[in-house]
Amino acid sequence: MALRLYNTLTAQVEEFQPLADNQVRMYTCGPTVYDFAHIGNFRTFVFQDILRRYLKYREYQVRQVMNLTDVDDKTIRNAREAHLPLRDFTSKYIDAFEADRQLLNLERPEFSVRATDHVEDMVKLIQVLAEKGYTYASGGSIYFRVEKFAGYGKLSKIDLSGMQAGARVDTDEYEKANPRDFVLWKAAKEGEPRWESPFGPGRPGWHIECSVMAMKYLGETLDIHSGGTDLAFPHHENEIAQSEAATGKPFARFWLHAEHLMVNGERMAKSLGNFFTLRDLIARGHKPTAIRYHLASVHFRKPLNFTFEGLHQAQQSIERLRTFRSRITLENSGSSGESSQLQSRAAEARRAFEEAMDDNLNTAEALGAVFDLVRDANTAMDQGQFHEADRPALLDVLERWDRVFAVLEDTDYSKLQELGMLRTVEISTTPAAHAPSPREDLPAQDSEFQRLAQEHARYAAELEQLSGKRHRTEQEQLEEVRLKKLKLRVRDQMENLVHQSERGGPEGNKAGVLLEVLAGEEIEKRIQERTAARQSGDYARADEIRQELQRAGVILEDTKGGTRWKRK
Ligand SMILES: [Zn+2]
Repeated sequence: MALRLYNTLTAQVEEFQPLADNQVRMYTCGPTVYDFAHIGNFRTFVFQDILRRYLKYREYQVRQVMNLTDVDDKTIRNAREAHLPLRDFTSKYIDAFEADRQLLNLERPEFSVRATDHVEDMVKLIQVLAEKGYTYASGGSIYFRVEKFAGYGKLSKIDLSGMQAGARVDTDEYEKANPRDFVLWKAAKEGEPRWESPFGPGRPGWHIECSVMAMKYLGETLDIHSGGTDLAFPHHENEIAQSEAATGKPFARFWLHAEHLMVNGERMAKSLGNFFTLRDLIARGHKPTAIRYHLASVHFRKPLNFTFEGLHQAQQSIERLRTFRSRITLENSGSSGESSQLQSRAAEARRAFEEAMDDNLNTAEALGAVFDLVRDANTAMDQGQFHEADRPALLDVLERWDRVFAVLEDTDYSKLQELGMLRTVEISTTPAAHAPSPREDLPAQDSEFQRLAQEHARYAAELEQLSGKRHRTEQEQLEEVRLKKLKLRVRDQMENLVHQSERGGPEGNKAGVLLEVLAGEEIEKRIQERTAARQSGDYARADEIRQELQRAGVILEDTKGGTRWKRK
């Protein structure tokens, strides 16, 4: 079966083939590097990684571009607060994102590109749009005239009739002829980074960077463009308008949007304060592979409810798969015989996995396929029906499955150690739990933060009511502007609170040590002591050592070849 994907543009599931050759040209909207990405953001990035890996599994060559938004209101504001030049400030968060990417086993895109390295290209595209009559200048800024682009709204299918010309609903001081119009070039403001251009000094708008970097590295028509569902409007709609107005060609053939990560029925968002960064979760003792598994376990078009219970289950599922893999690696086969039910069972599992993934990347079903196999194979082995030729057949299914899911290798601790986020200590200094200081002081618990969050939710609800009206009176339009400003102000206050509580200053964004674990040599030494105790018949002492290690997060396994250990 061919790979089928839900395309937001056509609102249906369609068979996917790249435009040319075997190469998939894919653009994925990346992070704004003003802070750590939270795991709501990472749900989208994990989805994009699963998509990328499955395309490669299907033997396509992938050429992926991910942008790093390193200039916008938030990066400028936070850099100023940190008393750092914009580039130095954003570089730190690019490094942080890179570390998070490695921890979550996200493959590196062929091009990870910074917006500020492409300002010249952006100016050129704006010039093309200007020559074709799609722009106008106002207050030193350049705007895109949306009504000139006939296809506007075709991606998001949004009803724009409520947004009437003449109403000022913009949230900043710039003047637009029509509220739907969006800024391509922002006039320089006092104290902000600026670039010279034929339109005067200023900086690019956010939307133009994606059009420019996508077309620069991938050509005028992409195979796949993806991002979180909240980007469909206005961001992706604006990307289409700019790109297609300039080239006259379709900008992207397939648009894939990942649904939100939810916490208690609300979208996880920085602006709502209900978020966890990857580091928050690691410091609480959760493994990056478990987080990856949890984020990948639900179909990308369904909201995923984040819970700690879900994370624990993810960890258990991974353990089950790892245990299964070591069992089929080590199990003595009953016979060297060729044919066996298990081999056809393995072939069936592989087919079920591929069919699930072909069916619009149904990860939940792909997980089900492998766990059904684990259950059946364990039963067969318990009954002594395991043949030598079953071993490679079963291992092959696991290997194929893990090419996409990427959670079977137990590399969490070694990566954390490489990144300087893990410190090994001696047993005398190891606290009872292996996670020394779970952060209980998250802003969501803070009462001032709670108050602001409620205020923010109230403005959001009132705004939603207003924007649901098709035709608004002048009064209502003014009210909408007022509410938007209030909402923005509250959100800023919330973000500042988060900022203060999370970081002591510009150096605060270094990851630092998140976890302390018992050193490997220390564990080996303890195991030797325990073995000696057992040999001399002192089982009480041996048990004491086992328990001591367990409290320090180390689990012992006695095998024929001696005692092995692993971290919880
Ligand atoms: Zn984008």
